[in-house]
Amino acid sequence: MLRRLGEQRTALELCTYCPKLCRFACPVATAEARETVTPWALMTRAHQVLQGRTPLDAATAQIWEHCTGCLRCQRNCRHDNDPPMALYAARAEAVAAGLASPALTAWAEAPRPSSRAFEALPEGGEVVVLPGHAADEVVAASVKLLRFAGFAAAGRPARGVWHAAGRLLPAGRPGLFEGAARQVLRGLEGARLVVCLDPEDAVTLTRDYPRHGVSVAAAVRHLSEVVDEPLRGRVRPVLEGDVLYLDACRLGRQLGVYDPPRRLLAAALAGGRIREAVMNRDQGGCCGAGAGFAATNPGAAADVAREAAADVPEIPVVTAGPTCAAHLRRAHGDTRTVHDWAVLVAGALNEELR
Ligand code: SF4
Ligand code: SF4
Repeated sequence: MLRRLGEQRTALELCTYCPKLCRFACPVATAEARETVTPWALMTRAHQVLQGRTPLDAATAQIWEHCTGCLRCQRNCRHDNDPPMALYAARAEAVAAGLASPALTAWAEAPRPSSRAFEALPEGGEVVVLPGHAADEVVAASVKLLRFAGFAAAGRPARGVWHAAGRLLPAGRPGLFEGAARQVLRGLEGARLVVCLDPEDAVTLTRDYPRHGVSVAAAVRHLSEVVDEPLRGRVRPVLEGDVLYLDACRLGRQLGVYDPPRRLLAAALAGGRIREAVMNRDQGGCCGAGAGFAATNPGAAADVAREAAADVPEIPVVTAGPTCAAHLRRAHGDTRTVHDWAVLVAGALNEELR
């Protein structure tokens, strides 16, 4: 009974008896401006369910979906506590009780976008690309960056693997996740380097797989890490004016990758400069799309996205996570330009230095 939630007892207790020290850091609680969805409140409710003091009902299951997995709470926690991990266990209990939100399940099972650029890659090889849920335009730009950077033989994983199946965890389906992870592992056999276009896949492979007893033999890197050095001096300044660079939570806070995307972006700016949000790098905001939040609570998720870009208004936004870029674009509509980092930098490559 509530086994998975029980495994999170220590984390739940830490939050329950904490004076809400990370309250200021949660982008969801800030955007929604209510106490019910602070990290402390989400965790305390889960603790009360574990203790039998609060029923596990649809309202509680719905409240647990108010988290993007951004880990800003953990970054500001003196105990290094990990609320999303506990909340995903709580969501698993909700799924087991038949209380999963249909929108969360649909998000986890959403078909990945088709990509001719990915399908054109040879199968297998020492370097393989994981496109995740990136659109074809982003995949094509990323493949161009890789070829320019000397990874001409980059291929795709075997067995039809496109992503690391990481959405299954926040969707409360850890059993399916573990089975999918083993399938992904077979698709990566023979690879010595996995290049992830979506930082979420890199986090899933390097953090979540080991937590579930699955280890990846190959090195796992985000695209920006592997092209940074080879492409220095090979990017032309093509974009006029300043841009606001936003760290995607999973690329920055969770993988620690801050400078590679900034370096190549700076080279693509003609006269302008990279502007930073007041809170940036490991304290950076959140686009609002993670952990299914944009599917279950689209209005609040759009508010989170606009809040992340609000410190420096009007100028174009650039981010290096394809899921974040797509969500920021949807949230801003026609009011602001949002560039996907890979598309922007690929368009600035100096073809004469090929
Ligand atoms: S994550 Fe840390 S700081 Fe935030 S409520 Fe829990 S124990 Fe407190
Ligand atoms: S991971 Fe982010 S959204 Fe979730 S509780 Fe922590 S700060 Fe809030």
